[in-house]
Amino acid sequence: MANEFKSGFVTVVGLPNVGKSTLINRCVGQKVAIISQKPQTTRQKILGIRTTDETQIIFVDTPGIHTPRTKLGEYMVNSANESVRDADIAVFVTAAGRDVTDKEREIVENIKAEGIPAILVINKVDAVAKDTIPEKIVAFNEMMDFAATVPLSAKTGSGVKFLLAEIEKLLPEGPEFYDGDTVTDVNERVMASEIIREKMLNLLDKEIPHGTAVEIIDFKEEPGIVNIQATIYCEKDSHKGIIIGKKGEMLKRIGAKARVDIEEMVEKKVFLELWVKVKDDWRNNNYLMKSFGYDSQE
Ligand code: GDP
Ligand code: MG
Repeated sequence: MANEFKSGFVTVVGLPNVGKSTLINRCVGQKVAIISQKPQTTRQKILGIRTTDETQIIFVDTPGIHTPRTKLGEYMVNSANESVRDADIAVFVTAAGRDVTDKEREIVENIKAEGIPAILVINKVDAVAKDTIPEKIVAFNEMMDFAATVPLSAKTGSGVKFLLAEIEKLLPEGPEFYDGDTVTDVNERVMASEIIREKMLNLLDKEIPHGTAVEIIDFKEEPGIVNIQATIYCEKDSHKGIIIGKKGEMLKRIGAKARVDIEEMVEKKVFLELWVKVKDDWRNNNYLMKSFGYDSQE
C-alpha cells in the first residue's frame, strides 16, 4: 500500500556542548530542551515531537556521556545508553572545527553495535572555514557506514531541512504515537523547573547550579494567570547566599528571566515565587533523586 504513515524514535547523541538540544529545538520548531553554554545541562530524556501529514518524528535528547561519579552521574550514563538501545534511528552530532575524540569513537561504536541506522551531523558549520568539514566527514564514515551525512547549523537553521528529509527516509511504518499538536510529553511543571535551572546555569558560576535541583511546589492555573511556587535546593549555606544574592538581587534576576520563558510556554501571565533551601548531599540520595523526578522508570 502506498503512503503508509511513518513514525519512529530518533535519539540524538554526541559529546556535551555540540548542539544537540539546539538542534532538537530547531527540528521541532519550539523550545523543548534546555540550552546552555555549559556542558551536561540536560538531565532528563526530553522528547521533542515533529508531526506532519505523513510522518511523526519523536526526538530523544540525551545527556552527554561521561564518567559516573555520583548517582546523578550514573543516571545520565544509563539514560544515554538506553536511548540508543530503544531508538529506531540515531543522529550522531559532532561540532565542525574540533578534532575527533576517543569519546566520540566510543559513542559511534555503541551505535554500530546496536545496528540501527545512523545519520552523521556536522553541526556549527556557521562557525568554521568550510574546507575543514570534508576531513571530518571522511574520518567518521571510516568508523561506520552512516546512512547519510548532513553538515548544518542548528543555530541559523541552515541545512536542517536536509536532516529532516534524511530522517523521514529512514522512518519505519508506524502509528501516530502522540497527538499531532503535542510537541513534548514532558509536562509543563517539569519544563518550568528546567527553565529555572537554565537561568541559574546562565547567571551563576557553574559549580553552584550543578549542585542544585528545582522542585515545583505549586503550579496553579487560574483564569489569565498561572501561579507557580518553586524551591531551589542547593548543597551549602554559602551557595544559598550566592543564589539569593545581595538584597535578593540574584534570585530576582533568576525569577524574572524564568518568568518570561514560562509565560511564553504557557501562553499566559505567570506569577513565580522562588524559595532557596539547603539540602545536604541530595545527589547521592535515592529518595530525593526520585522526588525530583530523576527516575529511569519514568
Ligand atoms: P548540547 O550540550 O549538545 O545539547 O548543546 P547545546 O544545544 O546546549 O548547545 C551548546 C552551545 O553551542 C550553545 O551555546 C549553543 O548556542 C551553541 N550552538 C549550538 N548549535 C550551534 C551552531 O550551529 N553554531 C554555533 N556557532 N553555535 C551553536
Ligand atoms: Mg543538551
